[in-house]
Amino acid sequence: MIDREGVQTMKLSRTHALFRNGLLRWYSHHGRSLPWRHWRDPYRIWLREVVLQQTRVEQGIPYLKRLLRHYPTLKRLAHAHVDELLHLWQGLGYYSRARHLHQAARHLYQNYGGRFPRSYEEWLALKGVGPCTAAAIVSFAFNQPFAVVDGNVCRVLARAFGLDQSLTHHRKAFETLAQTLLDPQQPGTFNQALMDFGATVCTPRQPQCSSCFFRKHCVAFQQGLISDLPRQSPKVAVRTRYLVFFIFHLKGSTYITRRDAKDIYRHLFAFPWLETDGSYDFPKVRRLLQSSGWLKKVPRRLWLSSSFQHRLSHQCLQVTFAHVPVHSSLLKVPEGWQRVPYGHLKNFAFPQFIRQYLKNYVPCEKLLAYERYE
Ligand code: SF4
Repeated sequence: MIDREGVQTMKLSRTHALFRNGLLRWYSHHGRSLPWRHWRDPYRIWLREVVLQQTRVEQGIPYLKRLLRHYPTLKRLAHAHVDELLHLWQGLGYYSRARHLHQAARHLYQNYGGRFPRSYEEWLALKGVGPCTAAAIVSFAFNQPFAVVDGNVCRVLARAFGLDQSLTHHRKAFETLAQTLLDPQQPGTFNQALMDFGATVCTPRQPQCSSCFFRKHCVAFQQGLISDLPRQSPKVAVRTRYLVFFIFHLKGSTYITRRDAKDIYRHLFAFPWLETDGSYDFPKVRRLLQSSGWLKKVPRRLWLSSSFQHRLSHQCLQVTFAHVPVHSSLLKVPEGWQRVPYGHLKNFAFPQFIRQYLKNYVPCEKLLAYERYE
């Protein structure tokens, strides 16, 4: 069945109606009092949705507040420098979200005269906006009947209606069911209700079935399938990488470089780094530095940090920092490196683990301690 918006739905059965009405009743009494519960402004909703992708609400709220303080309007965001935005984004991860947000803001400002599109398709065409984000924006801001299908929603639907498929491979089945259940009179409220229900009642572990309005009809509850649903997608293979970051010490300053290659942390800054195929020891790091061509002569004195592990969704990074005191006359500085006084490092957007290292292990004043030249 295709409804008036061209979105596929099923026929609304009695069970579907019971779910819809029960959920809305539950939400009116128990919905979370989140700061954005009554937002209707597409700009703020868009920022919120992008910040909260792959992010817990508690972690995202301070970032969202900070972004709205710096960029209260689309115009301010469109005119911002991407480096400034990345700096504000530090620690939130998935930095492509920030880059895409910035590109989309410029596109909207230039092509829509600073106004916001109202259609789902126009939002979907923007950089970094997927079906879930587009549905959230048009349903919350413009009351359009598009169902949000995120992880919380899928878990609830899989259990309540016994959808025995993984979201990755059967997204359409989840979208069709969510679209059928959606209340076309109040799509934004319905979407928020379903997300809140998934986040607080039908949780991944130990859902509160005994107090759930739907337990008499819930397939997972009735058939004892709660721990089996939703079906998990096959795990992505995680690749381990061994990286050494070189902190050169030159009279109160060091070198950093921007990551431009199509790789992790694109457009962020980092200390110059090299990669090999296994863990590091002192001679190996010296050989690595020797072969880099960055130095005319590798100094005898180097300090190696312990190895840190940093996990990304698809990569496991084993990271070591090498402190290298060096006279500038010995360095053959490649194009793109920037010399930065220690005290200015805080002004650059670094990956989270570098920021943590500088904060917890070698704050600015301690960097000077490595400056023992030969
Ligand atoms: S009965 Fe339990 S598993 Fe089923 S929808 Fe309610 S909370 Fe989720």
